[in-house]
Amino acid sequence: MKAKSIEHIGIAVKNLKESIKYYEDILGIECYALEEVTDQKVKTAFFKIGEVKIELLESTDPEGPIGKFIEAKGPGVHHLAFAVDDVQQALVDVQEKGIRLIDKAPRQGAENLKIGFLHPKSTGGVLTELCGHK
Ligand code: ZN
Repeated sequence: MKAKSIEHIGIAVKNLKESIKYYEDILGIECYALEEVTDQKVKTAFFKIGEVKIELLESTDPEGPIGKFIEAKGPGVHHLAFAVDDVQQALVDVQEKGIRLIDKAPRQGAENLKIGFLHPKSTGGVLTELCGHK
């Protein structure tokens, strides 16, 4: 497995609308997509800066992963996503190297990408997402 680039940075927010305002009005970058990912119980907003995207995540359910994260830690940086060619293969590769997986198989993420998460206990405390087109 070789990560190709940082695909996006995921940020947990309490209120998508208010957070979009900060990125647009203060940082001057425009939201180009809004999408609900029911599987992850989130609404997302996407920004692009250079080659990197910022994914804002608002929980739609207090029991969902972002709801629980905000309850425990408050809003803030949630995960780092690396682009890979083949998510399924990448998950197999890192598991063979002893990394604990959250997702044993790729799931459907926002922007029609396949995604898989690695457990932060195996990654130095950084919730890590691998994403790609297959
Ligand atoms: Zn993500």
